[in-house]
Formats: sequence, structure tokens, C-alpha cells
Amino acid sequence: MENKNTLEKIFEIFKTEKGSLNLSKFVKTLNDFGILNDDPRLAPFLKRVKELQEKKQLNFEAFLSVLDPTIEPLIVKAFSGKLIIPSFKEFKKLVEEVFEDVRDCKDGKAADYIPQLARVDPDLWGLSVCTVDGQRFNLGDFEKIYTIQSTSKPFTYAMALDLYGSDYVQEYVSAEPSGEGFNEICLDDNNKPHNPMINAGAIVTSSLVKPELNLADRFEYMMNIFRKLSGGTYVGFNNSVYLSEKSVADRNFALGYYMKENDCFPKGSCLKTILEFYFQLCSIETKCSAHCIMAGTLANGGVCPITGEEVLDDVSVQHTLSLMLSCGMYDYSGQFAYKIGLPAKSGVSGSILVVIPNVMAICLYSPRLDKLGNSSRGLLFMEKLLKKVNLHQFDSDNNAAKIDPRGHISDFKDLEKNSILQAAMTGDLEMLRRHFSNGADIDVRNVIGQTILHIAVAEENMRIVKYLVDVCEMNLNAKDTWGETPLDIAEKRGNIEISTFLRCRMILKDLDSSQIAKNRQELAGLKEQRTSVGSEDSGVVTSF
Ligand code: GLN
Repeated sequence: MENKNTLEKIFEIFKTEKGSLNLSKFVKTLNDFGILNDDPRLAPFLKRVKELQEKKQLNFEAFLSVLDPTIEPLIVKAFSGKLIIPSFKEFKKLVEEVFEDVRDCKDGKAADYIPQLARVDPDLWGLSVCTVDGQRFNLGDFEKIYTIQSTSKPFTYAMALDLYGSDYVQEYVSAEPSGEGFNEICLDDNNKPHNPMINAGAIVTSSLVKPELNLADRFEYMMNIFRKLSGGTYVGFNNSVYLSEKSVADRNFALGYYMKENDCFPKGSCLKTILEFYFQLCSIETKCSAHCIMAGTLANGGVCPITGEEVLDDVSVQHTLSLMLSCGMYDYSGQFAYKIGLPAKSGVSGSILVVIPNVMAICLYSPRLDKLGNSSRGLLFMEKLLKKVNLHQFDSDNNAAKIDPRGHISDFKDLEKNSILQAAMTGDLEMLRRHFSNGADIDVRNVIGQTILHIAVAEENMRIVKYLVDVCEMNLNAKDTWGETPLDIAEKRGNIEISTFLRCRMILKDLDSSQIAKNRQELAGLKEQRTSVGSEDSGVVTSF
């Protein structure tokens, strides 16, 4: 097995004294990488591993036997720092800070055109992140269920493109910002809706999807795709919202009739059915954590990050993202592209989906909307976040004031850090010497907080250990994430030579410091004596 070496090292890190895998520590570390327990890639592994653990000890061979072709590369990728956000815990912390920073924002007002939206607690504040590697975290009210409303629009558009191709779809819906409100009754010079992200365009797009099916089958078809987009997490339907949408729909009906008059729909379309279908798509419900995976599928070129299923064609996704960038945030789209520089789509419930292509998606949920219909707190959050991280599409790689959570290889510090870690792992003393004499900061840590001394001890490389202790004078008491010192690791390994060496050095250091303290005391005493003698002397001198 190609990954066997790495897996062996991983196993060593989590090995208990009895030689079996410390499952809880192992899973906790995977969670820190963003691989959550409900991840469909992890869940079957956890089940198998628990079964095995009950029956017998989980030694390395047993560990290998429960890995499958999905989880194995994921584990190797995570522990080799190769996931798209390698330091996921740190990134989460940064996002959490901004999340709390904007919590007090009470600007705007929740939508109230239907009672179901008016009744929602306007203080709700949720956030979810899903990377293209399926790394996830959720904050605040991420489990509160809401209807997806206009955020259904990019997905419906992508589905239409998938089914019929861009040429056909563009015959019906253009790809230009409208410069008008989202429910404006207007068409472009060719009598087509300006784009699929506003109501006119979305209603026409809905009319294109599977018109040969009856409404029930059409809805089921869409729901199945939404479920796949969300990796099988929560997608439901809110019938009360649907009924309300339908009963307060004068504007959408007016828009529909205006478009019907202008031949905007395919021949044979029934306006009432199209509008009902459109209201149903707005009334699909979900929660931040699931909604985010749908957007993560867009970030990942149409492949669901947690299931690996190809749900949408990458070209359809590319077209959809282009329009989200230029038209996704209603009349604020230009400003959003200017400040944030990312494809996004907002909905009247208060959700915003932000896609960072090939990296991740962020879903924000906060019901208070600004005058243009975008979640006020969601916008503020994005502005503040983008001041800290260089995820704006046109951010320069050299912007030192911002953090790149992708940990680009071009980042010199990272290169240096990786090389030091690598040298400690492979026992490359020459390389370590070179770094040390170049003045590099050798106090680097791997993903589980181990210093290079921990690593050298784990590798049982006495030469490196001696060098790090005697020449580099590394801290012998440094603790990793689990509170273990290098000596703890040496003892666990049963490496008497290294543990004796470390113990001796610790005693010497203690002696050293107590000797120094003693010397200091003696010195201080001597000084005191001398000053008192000095003052007598001076007294003599003055009296002279
Ligand atoms: N149901 C709403 C409508 O069609 C959706 C609009 C929105 O989310 N902006 O009016």
C-alpha cells in the first residue's frame, strides 16, 4: 500500500501503551481538520472501527483493515497537511472572531411580506463552512431551518444548463446585470429576462426544467438534485411558506403575464404551473450546515465535497458562478464584487451563499435585510472577514496584511516550516543544521502541536535528538496538543537510551538553573557587603 508509511506514522502518534489505536484522540484530531463525525466518508469507518475494537485490540494491521479507498486518502491528506485549508482549526478561530464581532449588528429588518417570514426571530445568526475537501465547521444557529428562497435560483439555473446546455438556456435568459430590483417588471432589449438570479429570469429558468413531467415529478426531480447537492443532509419543504408565497404573489403573477405576453416561455408552457413550480423551489427548506454543502458543491466544480458524487457538470457550474459574481446580490452585486470579489447569492429569508471557487463555500444566515434585500449582518461579516483573509478573487498573493488560509506553497515561511518538520521526520541532520545556522525559527509545530524534538524522539533518532537538545537547546518540557512532552513519547516507545538521555539533560538543566540561582544569590550577597563597605568608606572620606 502506497500510503502505508504515512499511515504507520499516523498510527504511531495515536498508539496507546498497549499498542492499540487511541480512537477518541484520533477522531478528535480528524474533527479538528474539519472531518466531522457525520461525514459520509468517515461514518462507515467509525462504525467498522468500533465493531473491531469491541472484538479485539486495534493494532496497526487491524487499523489498516478498516480503512477503505475513500477514508484512507482523506486521512493521509489531512495528516500530511495537504487539505485545502491545512490549518483548519486556526481558520475556524479566525472566522469565529469575526462571527462574534458582528453579532451585535441589528441593522435592517426581516422580510415581512408573508407571515411565516415575519414571525422568524430576527436575532438568529448562523454560519457554516464547507471546503472542497469536505472540511466543515458550523457556528451559532446553524441548525435553524429556513426556506432557501432566491438561493434556489443559481441551482435551478445550473440544472437547466446541465440538462439543455448554455446555448439553449441563453435563448431564454440573458446574462447581464439588470440594474433593477430583484422583482422588477422588466426585460432586456431582446425581450428576455436580464439574468437568472432575479425573479423574471428565475421564473423563466424554472419553466425550462423538465417541462415534459407533471408538476409532482418535476418537483421530485429537483428535490433529488438538491439532496445530492447537500450530500444527503437536510433538505425539506415548507408547505406554509409555499401557500403564503402563492397567495401573496401579485407581483410575480404580473411579471409572469408580462413575460407571457412577450413570448418569454417555451411553447406550450402553462404560466400557473410555472409559477407554482417557482414558489415551490423558493419554499424548499434547509439549514446553514446543509445549505453550505450545496454551495460547497458549486465551489468544487459540481462534485459534492462530502460524497464525491458528480451532481452538476463543471461547465454549468462555471456559468452559474459567473452570474452569481455579476448578479447574485441584487442591486448590490457590483459593490459586492468590488469589495468581496466572490460569487454569491442571497435570499429573502436572510441567507447568503458565498462561493470561493476551488476552495470552499460559506453560508450565512441572519434574517434582518438591508434596503436592497441582502442580510445586513451577513454582508458586514463578509466585509470584515475579507479584510483579514486574502480570498477576494483579485487579492494579490503578496498581500502581507492578509492571511491566506490555503497556506500557499509560495509562502516562504510555510516552505521553511515544512522543510524543518520534514528534516526532523526523515532524520536529515544536514538540513536541520543548515536551517539552524541560517537563523530559521526552529520552534515549529506539526498539526498535533509536536515540536521537532517530539518528532525526532518519536522517530527514535538519537543523533537528531542530541543535536536538538545540546546544540539548539530546545525546550525539553514543550507539550504537544495532548499534553505530552518528548520524554513522555520516549517512555511510551520504551526507548531507554533516549529517555535516559532526556532525563539526564533535564536534571542537568535543573542543576544548572539552581546553580545559577545560587550563584546569583551569592553574588547579590557579595554586592551588598561591598556596598555597605563602600558606604563606610565614603563616610570615612566625608568625615575626613
Ligand atoms: N419568494 C420570493 C419572491 O419570489 C423570493 C425572493 C427572494 O428571495 N429575493 O419574491
